[in-house]
Amino acid sequence: MQRLTIAPEQLTPPHIHLTTAQHHYLCRVLRLRVGDRFIAMDGGGHWWLAALTEAPLQAVVLEAMHAHNELPRPVILLIAMPKGGGMDDLLPQVTELGVAEIVPVVSDRTLLKPSPQKVERWQRIVREAAEQSERQHIPIVHPPQPLMDALKRWRGEASPMSDATDCLPPTSPASCYICTERGVSRHLLGVLLTQHSATPAAPIVIATGPEGGWTEAEVAGAIALGFQPVTLGRRILRAVTAPVVALSLVTAVLEQD
Ligand code: SAH
Repeated sequence: MQRLTIAPEQLTPPHIHLTTAQHHYLCRVLRLRVGDRFIAMDGGGHWWLAALTEAPLQAVVLEAMHAHNELPRPVILLIAMPKGGGMDDLLPQVTELGVAEIVPVVSDRTLLKPSPQKVERWQRIVREAAEQSERQHIPIVHPPQPLMDALKRWRGEASPMSDATDCLPPTSPASCYICTERGVSRHLLGVLLTQHSATPAAPIVIATGPEGGWTEAEVAGAIALGFQPVTLGRRILRAVTAPVVALSLVTAVLEQD
């Protein structure tokens, strides 16, 4: 069934007030007619079975729906922005895998200088991917920020997280990892397997570097702030591949039973 994201203020039960663009999408693009059903979701964990009505720009809620396919721990990815269209490629993939928040970071070797329009575009890409993969939460794309600021904000202390994290007590300290392609670190899989049962609800924060890799000072700075260095295997992964691999390992551990 087709999905549509609405803003909370568009719902005055039992009515949903559609914007012209949403109406156009439902009626012209998806070719729904009066009485046809679709799923309306607010991106914050609520969704409803709805149907188009005869009234202009209006739909009616038939029933609230309950589904839960979000990860039990919120995962926040700090991604040193790859150049070119790298973010466009990786954002749908990490959204499909269940990321809660994406923090694009500018590191010493980051080449991309994104415009504000880029960030809006990224949020749109993420919303569409979330709808497609039937997520209840639409991941948040934060504004790009310097690496050190992001590391400090998301380090393993009790930190204010988004409301996408309603499954955890606000005081859970995050488990923080930095993926390092060289040097001897433990594998992320082994680390997660040993640590997960001790912190079953805490956020997981993972930082991945740009094409040129992290500088030594960046890795040292992250470790000083409480980030544990981890490897994703013996081969060097591309900057667009590493976040996807890291998140796949997380989902496997969190959903293994
Ligand atoms: N050009 C760099 C590689 C950068 S790879 C070099 O040759 O050293 C881009 C980022 O992906 C890295 O900073 C790291 O965060 C992540 N990454 C790639 N391969 C990895 C691996 N095997 N283990 C952990 N992280 C990896």
